[in-house]
Amino acid sequence: MLIVFIGPPGAGKGTQCRRLVDLLDIPHLSTGEMLRAVMEQDTALSRYVASYINAGKLAPDHLVMRIVSQKVKSPDCTNGALFDGFPRTMVQAQMLDDLLVELKRPLDVVLELQVPDEVLIDRLLKRAKIDGRADDNDATIRERLRVFHDQTKPLVQYYSKQGKLRSVDGTKSEEEVFDAIRKALPIQT
Ligand code: ATP
Ligand code: MG
Repeated sequence: MLIVFIGPPGAGKGTQCRRLVDLLDIPHLSTGEMLRAVMEQDTALSRYVASYINAGKLAPDHLVMRIVSQKVKSPDCTNGALFDGFPRTMVQAQMLDDLLVELKRPLDVVLELQVPDEVLIDRLLKRAKIDGRADDNDATIRERLRVFHDQTKPLVQYYSKQGKLRSVDGTKSEEEVFDAIRKALPIQT
């Protein structure tokens, strides 16, 4: 099964995706984690990536796409994959559609986790104190939310028109959110 998971920063994508990949036994492709792994190296590429992410901007589409398409074509993903935090722009969504047409493997479902901005800011500031991610500070959080509304939110309508969108309330408890996600899947689990 191929699943796209969309949600604003701090919506709880990472947490819910970890549970979902356990349940479905498919790989978890988090572009945020892949990009953070790139940033841990000390190379020209890692500094290039960090200059975007630490400013709350999105990494360039072509770069993200290169990383994702390599993964999707790998043998681990023959039974499917869960895309977490990807696509994040209309360009990425179109590039993903093209790639999946080429691979003859259509997307099964797009899950959207809905959480209002006030709740997100609160959660991200708390997370900043716990894991000290360089992009979890007040200015960057606001910029990431702005970027989400501007560049990522249009994907909700794009996938809704394709009849693939299922929206879930992300303000409930971790358990309740996961239950709602399970019910939104095209197969019963
Ligand atoms: P959540 O808390 O819901 O997991 P998040 O804000 O932690 O959300 P990540 O998915 O971890 O989001 O991404 C962190 C950063 O990595 C983003 O702010 C962005 O700069 C970069 N990034 C991640 N995925 C993409 C993508 N598909 N395209 C461009 N940049 C991306
Ligand atoms: Mg995350």
